[in-house]
Amino acid sequence: MPGEIVNDGRPVIRWPEGRRFAFTIFDDPDSQMCEDTREVYSFLADLGFRTTIGVWPLEARRTRNSRGETCANPEYRELLRRFQERGFELGFHNATAHSATREETIEALGLFREYFGSGPAAMANHYNDEAIYWRAARLTGWRQKVYEALMGGGLNRSGGHVPGTPHYWGDVCRDNIRYCRNFVYSDINTLRVCPWMPYFDPTKPYVQFWFSACEGAEGSSFTKALQDRNQDRLEEEAGASIVYTHFGRGFIENGRLHPEFRRLMERLARKEGWFVPVSTLLDFLMEAKGQTVLTAAQRRKLETRWLWEKFFRGTS
Ligand SMILES: [Zn+2]
Repeated sequence: MPGEIVNDGRPVIRWPEGRRFAFTIFDDPDSQMCEDTREVYSFLADLGFRTTIGVWPLEARRTRNSRGETCANPEYRELLRRFQERGFELGFHNATAHSATREETIEALGLFREYFGSGPAAMANHYNDEAIYWRAARLTGWRQKVYEALMGGGLNRSGGHVPGTPHYWGDVCRDNIRYCRNFVYSDINTLRVCPWMPYFDPTKPYVQFWFSACEGAEGSSFTKALQDRNQDRLEEEAGASIVYTHFGRGFIENGRLHPEFRRLMERLARKEGWFVPVSTLLDFLMEAKGQTVLTAAQRRKLETRWLWEKFFRGTS
């Protein structure tokens, strides 16, 4: 028995190998250059962390909406393969650093397989037009209307989940990718805010399973999320944390890792945590808890809290 639920509603997981909690990261490639990748991942690997590195498989062919390496750079690709060999997972961040057509997304997934041996299991949307259930489409009901009114819409006019648009790839996503990230919260214990993950949401049928994450989008918010007392609480609660970050933003100063980031990761590494990639963690949770189909009440809860945090705390 890999894990179990004590306490109704809130999973108390028995982590493998007697570990006391789980911790991982999904890293978004925005603004990340080869030197950042090398610096950050050599450090994480030596400490024993094994996390998920989001990538853009396809070269940028039109005007970019973001900086950052794509897998078209052979030096970057080689670096990624080396970390993959050491146990890191590679994740999908849409095709490339600009909106992609259905054909380009299919091409990108093919390149991913060619470069890294198999297709991606986990993904997170980039703010492209083919992002799946993105912007207001992340939400339902009044929350969707509030979001649209305040943030502007685009709802159902485009998006990877809307058949008949040039960006549609919902069917390809459903057939190829197991886990997709939606809501991000400030709590370090992602499992406490979202005890249902990984979950299937019947209002979003092109995604097999969703996961939530902890806000750590750049150096400053990452170190805030991982403060000593938060690390200790994650351990006490036997929780699971999936931090969403961009290692290309604010982790390196004058060619060196930010000292507070270094200190916090070294501190966390000394704890008895289970430090595995996003998909390994989610596969384990699914086996421990069974598959969850999100109910309307659960969806309301996740959406309302996220919307509140989005507007008052600026989470992703
Ligand atoms: Zn991005």
